[in-house]
Amino acid sequence: MRRFALPHDRRPCLSGRAPEATALRMTVHFHEEDIPAGLFAGASSIAVDTETMGLITPRDRLCVVQLSDGGADEHLVRFAPDSDYAAPNLKALLADRSITKLYHYGRFDIAAIQHYLGVVAAPAWDTKIASRLIRTYTDRHGLKELVRELLGQDLSKAQQSSDWGGPDLSDAQKEYAASDVRYLHRLREELERRLAREGRTAIAQACFDFLPSRAALDLAGWPEQDIFAHA
Ligand code: MN
Repeated sequence: MRRFALPHDRRPCLSGRAPEATALRMTVHFHEEDIPAGLFAGASSIAVDTETMGLITPRDRLCVVQLSDGGADEHLVRFAPDSDYAAPNLKALLADRSITKLYHYGRFDIAAIQHYLGVVAAPAWDTKIASRLIRTYTDRHGLKELVRELLGQDLSKAQQSSDWGGPDLSDAQKEYAASDVRYLHRLREELERRLAREGRTAIAQACFDFLPSRAALDLAGWPEQDIFAHA
């Protein structure tokens, strides 16, 4: 496992103390091909995101899986171009039905994980679906917008479209990848409050439960059609 120092301190520096001295120093952990055994033991929910070569799942291979348990650190798993996607520890974590996976637009990530790793990464909780169900006053449901409005933080999307398949990921790419899972636990907390307030918890849960089927439809040849539509 390799680590790299973040380019900037992500927490406000406590008075007179260097960032190194604070107890919660955040680190992005980088792994090749799998996570270490026992990582996230005891976790009840894990934030999950993926980076791929593009948006067409069978064509555009899975390059990176990002994980966070909502604590100070994020973990990145990178897959090489010739990877066999064996990743037994990661697969066991993702397939563990006792661990809820938090996504932002999980439909894409669940399909990529299903296609390349062969596991159904569920049960799911999706911040984009929750946002669509509760923030009916806007059509802006991107992660950056959610993090800004609900948490008051600024999320950079500068590395969103970049080459995730190269031999080395830049520190900027690693920081971007990590930031995509960094806020999902906190977003879920706030979105759960709002869903409950407006009486939409049950319909949200039903949508989350359907996500693996929606991803399976994407992979099976119904990517764009709304099978519930009349025409
Ligand atoms: Mn991402």
